[in-house]
Amino acid sequence: MNRITLSLALLIAISAMAQQPQEIMMKTFVDDLMKKMTLDEKIGQLNLLTPGWGLPTGAVVSSDVEKKIKEGKVGGLFGVIGVEKIKQAQQLAIEQSRLKIPLIFGSDVIHGYKTTVPIPLGLAGSWDMKLVEHSAREAAIEATADGLCWTFSPMVDIARDPRWGRIAEGSGEDAYLGSQVAKAMVKGYQGNDLAANNTLMACVKHFALYGAAEAGRDYNTTDMSRVRMYNEYLPPYKAAVEAGAGSVMSSFNEIDGVPATGNKWLLTDVLRKQWGFTGFVVSDYTSVNEMTHHGMGDLQTVSALALNAGLDMDMVGEGFLTTLKKSLAEGKVTHVQIEEACRRVLEAKYKLGLFDDPYRYIDEPRAKKEVLTSERRKAAREIAARTFVLLKNNNQTLPLKKTGTIALIGPLASDKSNMLGTWAVSGDPQMSVPVLEGMKNAVGSGIKILYAKGANISDDTAFAKKVNVFGTRIDIDKRTPEALLNEALSVAKKSDVVVAVVGEASEMSGEAASRTEITIPESQKKLIRALAKTGKPLVLVIMTGRPLALTEENELATSILVTWHAGMEAGNAIADVLFGNYNPSGKLTATFPRNIGQVPIFYNHKNTGRPSAPNSPKFQSNYLDAPNSPLFPFGYGLSYTSFSYSNISVSKNNPVGNETITATVTVTNTGKYDGEEVVQLYIRDVVGSITRPLSELKGFQKINLKAGESKTVTFSISPDDLKFYNYNLEYDWEPGEFHIMIGGNSAEVNKAVINWIK
Ligand code: BGC
Repeated sequence: MNRITLSLALLIAISAMAQQPQEIMMKTFVDDLMKKMTLDEKIGQLNLLTPGWGLPTGAVVSSDVEKKIKEGKVGGLFGVIGVEKIKQAQQLAIEQSRLKIPLIFGSDVIHGYKTTVPIPLGLAGSWDMKLVEHSAREAAIEATADGLCWTFSPMVDIARDPRWGRIAEGSGEDAYLGSQVAKAMVKGYQGNDLAANNTLMACVKHFALYGAAEAGRDYNTTDMSRVRMYNEYLPPYKAAVEAGAGSVMSSFNEIDGVPATGNKWLLTDVLRKQWGFTGFVVSDYTSVNEMTHHGMGDLQTVSALALNAGLDMDMVGEGFLTTLKKSLAEGKVTHVQIEEACRRVLEAKYKLGLFDDPYRYIDEPRAKKEVLTSERRKAAREIAARTFVLLKNNNQTLPLKKTGTIALIGPLASDKSNMLGTWAVSGDPQMSVPVLEGMKNAVGSGIKILYAKGANISDDTAFAKKVNVFGTRIDIDKRTPEALLNEALSVAKKSDVVVAVVGEASEMSGEAASRTEITIPESQKKLIRALAKTGKPLVLVIMTGRPLALTEENELATSILVTWHAGMEAGNAIADVLFGNYNPSGKLTATFPRNIGQVPIFYNHKNTGRPSAPNSPKFQSNYLDAPNSPLFPFGYGLSYTSFSYSNISVSKNNPVGNETITATVTVTNTGKYDGEEVVQLYIRDVVGSITRPLSELKGFQKINLKAGESKTVTFSISPDDLKFYNYNLEYDWEPGEFHIMIGGNSAEVNKAVINWIK
């Protein structure tokens, strides 16, 4: 070794040492602890239970939890809500178990904790990553103040099928946007220091491809080419892992014949070897046991399969607890595998600072101070207003004038139980603000608001029963549908404008809430038709957890505002937008189809060999009975003002090699209001070694423009933005022609053509 190489090696070693003391200390600590642990105690750390002291989120609730904690047979708990209960459980572990190993406390903090914000599909629709991060930060502060240290979020499953109810919990259909949201959420939850008492460990879920369930039916099979997986579905999980997420949750579904929870290729080769993940992997709720139903063998077999695949913690099913010892004796798993899994769980506890102080997150006075504060509610209101998407606004009906009479109609207009949205397990629906209350808060005496329910969310009692498992969400009125309608019509006739709040109940989306129709239920459609016939301007405020087919409503309504399920401040935020205190700026992150037959439909599809040619009578990739285009494309959303795009230009038309170029566009606010616009950059790789999508989102910027103002928006583009996984799964770019497209949604763009040479 010459002197230069020697000093270089020394330098590297010294800097590695400087970076590593934490890691070394953690390893030494865990080594020492594990030396003291029995095999049963090690297996105990792999056991995650839910005692049913909160709202159960699955079909099974764990039993004998206290006894098991004392015996060192539990690594963590979830579904325990409230600092007092968490304290009691931690005391059991610290005061009564042999080695006093602290428990980890998790929960589904999905869109806010007790202060609920809009469902994730809505949050992503803000296209504002600072806002997304901020909402996760707020949730982390509130949830940790109440004793939690681990959240089962972000859910980053790409979903292109709105039949799937859990599309509500993710960021929509696009891998690039999904990756940005994933990063922002991990950053928001975890901050810079996991051991701080106000940061939560993130758990990226559901790994993987859960959103690609066949026919949009929950828990269903997925089967996909690796090229599609790597390019279109895996990036958000990878982004979350790269952002430092401490844990990952395996998904319920199978992937190409092997359930994710027992899939070694997925949990070890991709996650750990290719992506370098060093945290722990937890199963989904009884997903180890469910592998028996998948046809992978009895509980002992599937538990061994999961451990062998790289799963570390078993949620609720206790397959690890009850069979791993036997499997070890029979040589079906190894001691090293159990040790590794146990080490990863203990390391997570170490990183959270629980060994320093098991009560670090347990501070009753802090809970009283930090949970459900008025500041946090105010933030929830501001966040919510930024997620709404204006789909139509004829005759500038919105914003509403603060004079005259408004008819506020619809089953969701004065209904607290559906404001929070799905997966708001710690939120209290009764604390939410419905639209009627929000509008009354917003207007003074100069305006009259007349309210009528108008229709049931659905008249179908069997359907309502399925939706109402967590409490009444669809409340079928004692009055007949005709009586409800007549009342609404008489109210409408007395008014200057009708605002109808319609859509889905909160539990019509979410887990096990897939639908084969993605329309507004017929009971409400009848109401909308009748209201339209009155000839009054008709504003539809649509609450939904998924993209809906709104073809008929789009014809009948004057204006349409999609508000998702907007959380506890929904009503105030909706009033803010309806009256123009906030100018809507959200954009769709999942395509709204014309009808269910177009599903799956997404903007970044391929061209095919016979691309759509609407006027060709035959032999093109068209439908006979509908256009290929959606009703509202990905990235779409209006404002009370209007924006024009002009002068797209690129800094170079023939870039070479690894250089960075810029693409620039001028955006002008051509309307009367100040407003925000999401400027979107799409790229098409025209020729490739594999077929490439017609366009792919590669960047976006949300900008503020005063009425009449113009701004130049610049995007940097480097070969990194052109890379994709080729047929051999090599990640690289290929030279040739590219279309650089910038616009306000995926279907309306200004285009420049470049030729990038390698
Ligand atoms: C869901 C997960 C959730 C878990 C714990 C499961 O049913 O699929 O998303 O984190 O329950 O509540």
